[in-house]
Amino acid sequence: MNNHYCLGNKVFHIRSFKCVNCDRVIPWNRRIKLFCSDICREEADFVRYVRSCKKDGRIERTDVQETIQIMFAHIASGGYPRKERHIPKQLREAVIARFNGLCAICGNPGSDIDHIDGNSNDLNNLQLLCRSCHNKKTKEKIKILTPGDKRYFEVLEKRQNLDFRIDSPEPNLECDDEVNWPKVYRKIISYRKNLYYSSLTPIIDELLKQGLGNKRIAEQFNIFHIPTSSGHGKWYKEMIKKIRLSQKLFLKSNNKGKI
Ligand SMILES: [Zn+2]
Ligand SMILES: [Zn+2]
Repeated sequence: MNNHYCLGNKVFHIRSFKCVNCDRVIPWNRRIKLFCSDICREEADFVRYVRSCKKDGRIERTDVQETIQIMFAHIASGGYPRKERHIPKQLREAVIARFNGLCAICGNPGSDIDHIDGNSNDLNNLQLLCRSCHNKKTKEKIKILTPGDKRYFEVLEKRQNLDFRIDSPEPNLECDDEVNWPKVYRKIISYRKNLYYSSLTPIIDELLKQGLGNKRIAEQFNIFHIPTSSGHGKWYKEMIKKIRLSQKLFLKSNNKGKI
């Protein structure tokens, strides 16, 4: 893990974080994210969705059961290719207009944009479907694994693990909490951000000692390839200024807490 930096003969450690879903260390380029991968985020979404459907009775509905089956099939096959399959608003509107707002299969009002084959966002590869026809089409593509399949036991274990989390009376993990997660999520992010900034502060202090200003420090951070809190983009002097200010406040409030 590329999480320490040498300045002269001093070594500085930069904070890394664990995935809230699987407890593995989150890759360097994802920084303050909560999940180590999209599939981990998808698993947690799945657990919370099924927990809430069980609670409020939606679980009895056929369409909800179909959705759950499809969600799990995506997880079992390595995750839904969200980025590749994202359809921009304009394109979505073009497809709806092309099909006069009606499902290409049954003619009822359509709601879902379907990729006819593969992930291409070419207008000719997109059609409008109603939820029921869309689910039916997706379900037909789901492969039912049998004990003879190589991945059978791996997928079975995954399912048992997720079911255990779904059926647990109290949420097993923070990210399983279908009620509080939106709030908890923001809390963890801001807590992690503060810890991350704290771990950068000694480096900033060292560079300040060497007579560098915010602008030069930002340049150094870019040369060192220190990730920003979002994991992408470059450092600018305003960001260094913000860290210095926020750390002062953070330390102050911590000291006050002790007294
Ligand atoms: Zn993970
Ligand atoms: Zn239809």
